[in-house]
Amino acid sequence: MKPARAYIGLGSNLHDPVHQVRQAFEALGGILSSCCVARSPLYRSAPAGGPSDQPDYINAVAALDTGLTPGQLLAVLRAMELAQGRVRTVRWGPRILDLDLLLYDQLVIDDPRLTLPHPRLHERAFVLYPLYDIAPSLTIPGKGSLRELRANCSQHGLIRLDSED
Ligand code: AMP
Repeated sequence: MKPARAYIGLGSNLHDPVHQVRQAFEALGGILSSCCVARSPLYRSAPAGGPSDQPDYINAVAALDTGLTPGQLLAVLRAMELAQGRVRTVRWGPRILDLDLLLYDQLVIDDPRLTLPHPRLHERAFVLYPLYDIAPSLTIPGKGSLRELRANCSQHGLIRLDSED
């Protein structure tokens, strides 16, 4: 059966976030029945929501071809967060690693345990910019073309890092 194309959003703002995101890229490459086919550049952004005194975030997006179902993939992402030491405390508070399932093909799911496309994907510069870097012709179900969403979204101080940063 043809694999699905999934997009994963990565974020970290604790314990050397650049290292955490790179380590998560490596771990994504090892997911069962899946192949990591693209990694975006890393971006630095100010925290959105939650406590304002927390450190800046490092964000990126990866593309995965996968034979896992969306639910199986989400469970694997949760396990990866825990394996990298994430402790859930304040909502939108600082975290070692946050992994969001952004898209799974063009699937639409309206369930609080798994909403697809990810409910805040279309309004977050730190998702739209790296996603566009690796998949510029994507359409987001119910929201329109990624190109237009990105063009209409302010960068909000988002900074693209050089690969050696
Ligand atoms: P967070 O604390 O931001 O990582 O939110 C995680 C919660 O959001 C979990 O309870 C998930 O079941 C739920 N959730 C719903 N849709 C998604 C999605 N597309 N990606 C990741 N988590 C999701």
